[in-house]
Amino acid sequence: MDKHILKYVDLAKQWENEKEFLLPVIEEVLASGSYIGGEKVFDFETRIAEICKTKFAVALNSGTDALVCSLHALGIKRGDEVITPPNSFVASTSSIVHIGATPVFADVLEDQNIDPNRIIEAITPKTKAIMPVHLTGRVCEMNKILDIAKEYNLIVIEDAAQSIGSVFNGEMSGSFGHTGCFSTHPLKNLNACGDGGFIVTNSESLCDRIKKLRNHGLVNRNIVEEFAHVSRMDVLQASILMERLKKLDEVISVRQENAGIYDSIFDKDFVSRPQPRENCVDTFHTYVIQVDNRDRLRDYLKKAGIETAIHYPIPIHLQPAAKFLGYKRGDFPVCERQSERILSLPIHQNLQTNEIERVANAINTFLQDGSRD
Ligand SMILES: *Cc1c(COP(=O)(O)O)cnc(C)c1O
Repeated sequence: MDKHILKYVDLAKQWENEKEFLLPVIEEVLASGSYIGGEKVFDFETRIAEICKTKFAVALNSGTDALVCSLHALGIKRGDEVITPPNSFVASTSSIVHIGATPVFADVLEDQNIDPNRIIEAITPKTKAIMPVHLTGRVCEMNKILDIAKEYNLIVIEDAAQSIGSVFNGEMSGSFGHTGCFSTHPLKNLNACGDGGFIVTNSESLCDRIKKLRNHGLVNRNIVEEFAHVSRMDVLQASILMERLKKLDEVISVRQENAGIYDSIFDKDFVSRPQPRENCVDTFHTYVIQVDNRDRLRDYLKKAGIETAIHYPIPIHLQPAAKFLGYKRGDFPVCERQSERILSLPIHQNLQTNEIERVANAINTFLQDGSRD
């Protein structure tokens, strides 16, 4: 068996491929003596708004603060309920708790995204907002979610952290809601060399308020209009991201090709994953399959030198931190069942075709050998 370890992520390899053009950019920033705010960050925001097809973008220090600042700017407060799925990265829920509001979970569909019918069931007189999460880089059914929001007069904050460049019904991820919140964490498709994130919106007043909130509530050097956060993206990260944005289309298309290779090799009787939809683009932040005997398969792959990941093994409503919300096992059966069956396979843009084939063939062998029984 091939003993070369196939990594789930390989950021060192990414740097090796990029250092020739990134090092001068980094040196220029360091030499400039200007590290926070200014033109470079503004240029990044302008480019992001173009890419997401929104009027405005605000660069921030993380995807988590993009969610917190959105909730804050939209006036969500103590006593308000926000509906969100229980199978996201913890930040979707923790941002709601952070602002003092109450997260209310709604179960998901087979494709791991929030189920619009379950959203309707979760609505109470206290519901103020819906926070759908475009998990894996696949946009939720935003047509239905926007209809619900309109009918019940709810705010929509998209957790688009995993879905830059994704499309639903011809429209860009992040452009549907009052705000779209993105992360540029090192593990995302558009990644900084540290923490980062941004908000996109079509509302000028929201954009202005978020720009104030990210900078201590200052309106100028000396006047604080409201107590707020320090959530700015720094110039170094904005400059690195500007360079990496030039390659975003390529990164996405390589991930899509990799997904296509997996799809063509898998035995559909044993491996399932969300199917492509018309007029939509999935960008594969993760490539997630659902299988029986997931843990044994993961072990088998590990022994074969193939790293995998699980996003996420413990649903948020079952986390120790969520105890006060009063949920229990069995409350969200689709999400809970998926948490035992999902497996994220290596999909990153620096993998070779033969490496993808090696993973896919190992999985087919495991499943067809009857190892699954
Ligand atoms: C990564 C991620 C976040 C948080 O982003 P950070 O930049 O790490 O703060 C929030 N939600 C989802 C779904 C994510 O994947």
